[in-house]
Amino acid sequence: MAVVGVLALQGSFNEHIAALRRLGMKGVEIRKPEQLQSISSLIIPGGESTTMAKLAEFHNLFPALREFVQMGKPVWGTCAGLIFLANKAVGQKDGGQELVGGLNCTVHRNYFGSQIQSFEAELLVPELASQEGGPETFRGVFIRAPAVLEVGPEVEVLADYPIPSNKVLYSSSAVEIQEESAVPEKKVIVAIKQGNLLGTAFHPELTADTRWHSYFLKMVRDVGEGTSNATVAVSEA
Ligand code: GLN
Repeated sequence: MAVVGVLALQGSFNEHIAALRRLGMKGVEIRKPEQLQSISSLIIPGGESTTMAKLAEFHNLFPALREFVQMGKPVWGTCAGLIFLANKAVGQKDGGQELVGGLNCTVHRNYFGSQIQSFEAELLVPELASQEGGPETFRGVFIRAPAVLEVGPEVEVLADYPIPSNKVLYSSSAVEIQEESAVPEKKVIVAIKQGNLLGTAFHPELTADTRWHSYFLKMVRDVGEGTSNATVAVSEA
């Protein structure tokens, strides 16, 4: 049986492994650089990205993670995992933590505020419906969630979140939540794909709906069969 690696330093790695199990797949916990050699795809879970980065540094994982991404292997980051995969993150303490990078985008680490501003929302995801069937919507669980502020031209936007005009956003341009402001109606990007990389600002692993996991497993199969434009894009780079 093909296995999927799940970075298991901190955060919701058990929940990802359970979701994979529900789909008949085995998730293996990854904590050391050499363990990346035995897997062909990886999920980086949600959690707390600064803590996760400190642990990744301690285990000397960053070079191996970057190599894994650059080899064109499929990697999916959820929430803190999305932050890890972004080329640039803003809204961080002390200039920020180290990133793996790969997704040509800028994320705001705590765009929606802190723990008490966590929320759930129905997201429109046409790509998920066309690939996996079922409804066009997906219930996103946003916990201290990041958002994608900018994407490069090679990035595909899979879902955005139209912020209701009466929602109070806690603008945290730096670290502390300083001011509350009602936002004009606008959309922020919350799910993206770029070749072999997938990023979601929310936590599909905390729901019973496994369509995002199936979607990622399809990316894994496509890369394995050489039918993905990801491998082409990477090898041409
Ligand atoms: N905003 C958090 C961070 O900076 C991520 C939250 C999450 O993964 N639920 O790490």
